[in-house]
Amino acid sequence: MTQIAYPHFVAGGETWTADRIFVCSGADFETLYPELYANSGITKVKLQMMRTIPQPNDWRIGASLCGGLTLTHYSSFAHCPSLAALKTRIEAETPHFPKWGIHVMMSQNASGELVLGDSHEYGLTPDPFDRSEVNQYVLDYLKKFAQVPSFAIAETWHGIYAKLPGKTELIAEPEPGVTVVNALSGAGMTLSFGLAEAVMQRSK
Ligand SMILES: Cc1cc2nc3c(=O)[nH]c(=O)nc-3n(C[C@H](O)[C@H](O)[C@H](O)COP(=O)(O)OP(=O)(O)OC[C@H]3O[C@@H](n4cnc5c(N)ncnc54)[C@H](O)[C@@H]3O)c2cc1C
Repeated sequence: MTQIAYPHFVAGGETWTADRIFVCSGADFETLYPELYANSGITKVKLQMMRTIPQPNDWRIGASLCGGLTLTHYSSFAHCPSLAALKTRIEAETPHFPKWGIHVMMSQNASGELVLGDSHEYGLTPDPFDRSEVNQYVLDYLKKFAQVPSFAIAETWHGIYAKLPGKTELIAEPEPGVTVVNALSGAGMTLSFGLAEAVMQRSK
């Protein structure tokens, strides 16, 4: 979609008409309503990820795994009384983890590959290049609490999502009939179905 003037919008070079228009363009803040995003406080988060070769002999991990760093990443653990002490220790002994927003999780897909991550770099202009030392930090930490048949890495990549610090989403109506839904941050795969239902109900 390259242009909106409710009830019309342009997509794929064609002009369309719709009763309601929802703009869910993720980390592209530049194409549609750039001034709305520029004034919102929204930013981008870049996450480096890795995937191993399929594990030999159909080996399965079972449950997904994470380590102590994850306690410092998710606000669900904010009430833990010893969290401050843990953060202080990590900052003193391994400052590269907070510096690159690293916490380490491992899960397995249906092809038997292990999916490993991740780091968090914040800012509107994420670097297109990945940092090999960040992937190494993730692997080294993982190997301290997990043993698997093969840590041979087949692929590395990074993803980028939109985040509005302090909020779980950004919902705006830049013009009547048009709703922007964005900034689900690192929880969009979990929350988006419920949010979509709620937003549709609200805008009926
Ligand atoms: C590495 C990584 C790990 C994650 N892990 C988790 C997790 O474990 N659990 C969880 O809940 N969430 C996770 N997330 C977050 C989740 O993926 C995002 O919150 C979610 O994808 C946001 O959905 P969205 O539809 O808003 O944006 P996106 O998924 O970014 O989709 C936006 C789409 O709009 C398209 N688009 C943009 N501009 C236009 C335009 N002008 N016209 C037409 N199309 C356009 C884009 O090409 C894109 O396909 C993770 C994200 C990353 C990157």
